Amino acid sequence: MKFTPAKPPLTGETLDSLAEKLRAGGEPAFRAKQILEWVYKKRARSWDEMTNLSKPLRTWLDQNFDLMPATLVFNQQSHDITDKLLLELGDRSLIETVIIRAPQEGVGLDHSRKTICISTQVGCAMACVFCASGLAGFKRDLNAGEIVAQLLQVCYREDALTPRAHSELASFDNIVVMGMGEPLANYDALLRALAIINASWGLGFGARRITISTSGLVPKILQLAEEELGFRLAISLHGATDEVREKIMPVNKAYPLAKLLPAVKAFSEKHGRMVTLEFILIDSVNDSLEQAQLLRDIARDLHAHVNLIPYNTVEGLPWKRPSITRQERFADILRDARLSVTLRREKGHDIDAACGQLRLKTEKERTATAAV
Ligand code: SF4
Repeated sequence: MKFTPAKPPLTGETLDSLAEKLRAGGEPAFRAKQILEWVYKKRARSWDEMTNLSKPLRTWLDQNFDLMPATLVFNQQSHDITDKLLLELGDRSLIETVIIRAPQEGVGLDHSRKTICISTQVGCAMACVFCASGLAGFKRDLNAGEIVAQLLQVCYREDALTPRAHSELASFDNIVVMGMGEPLANYDALLRALAIINASWGLGFGARRITISTSGLVPKILQLAEEELGFRLAISLHGATDEVREKIMPVNKAYPLAKLLPAVKAFSEKHGRMVTLEFILIDSVNDSLEQAQLLRDIARDLHAHVNLIPYNTVEGLPWKRPSITRQERFADILRDARLSVTLRREKGHDIDAACGQLRLKTEKERTATAAV
């Protein structure tokens, strides 16, 4: 389903496209820089705050653009380290943006590594069987402005928490495009949004600290390898053989490992960066020692980092996480091969599996209320 907003979001404009629209509207093009400075540097939340713009220009902007296409509905803070922002879009669709804090040893939460996980679609068409985001199917792609707006909402939240005004987005270590949706299925909007996030007139966030995670859309991985901005790549692998992968990820039928792995290698050789293989450990599905050995061989061949994620139970789905002993035995096979491997431990830290659950719950509550 396509959503055409009544007014285009300002957060989807580049410096050039905004200058062009100003010119076409009979306004001076140089105002584009000032306007975007209000949005990204000074974090203006209304047109009236843009005091160095004339009143007629502010009225023109209001008539032609939506300043913020995503409204904060709810901020769920977990007891440990994950904050979820539930955002509502112009058509009442809900999306999640997640802030994850990973404490560094001995220095506590204040000095934790901070990551923002953003969504690119409402729902998801990839139908991975373990995933809450895919449960309700695909609704629509996000536009570039809606993708960028998620980060501005994180900025607003941080600004409110930090005594010093307007803490920089740069205080975050990473942005991962790993929330709801298959990012590479919404390629053009994603790349436009990332260009805005990266630009000095935008959020100024370094491309090398942005990771795009895909379930394995091979042609798009190859296209991404040709992009100038060097984003990082993560592959949701979750199975080290076609047989296992196909059971849980339908995308494997179109792009089996024989197609996927060479594409990942091509990306990694082109960019000279280590790719990450995400592997959700699901009890009795993909957690055998044989899978660990095959994953080790794949990771060694690709010089890839492996991120093992014990499955987070999703209401309504039968899958379970393996015991800690089983998780450790799996990880040891990779560690023994001296591969770069992480095994997530913290509760509420599993953005892959847990992402989408807050939205799903809220959608159900809405439906129930509407039926009363
Ligand atoms: S895991 Fe990712 S690609 Fe698969 S259904 Fe969920 S959101 Fe989509």
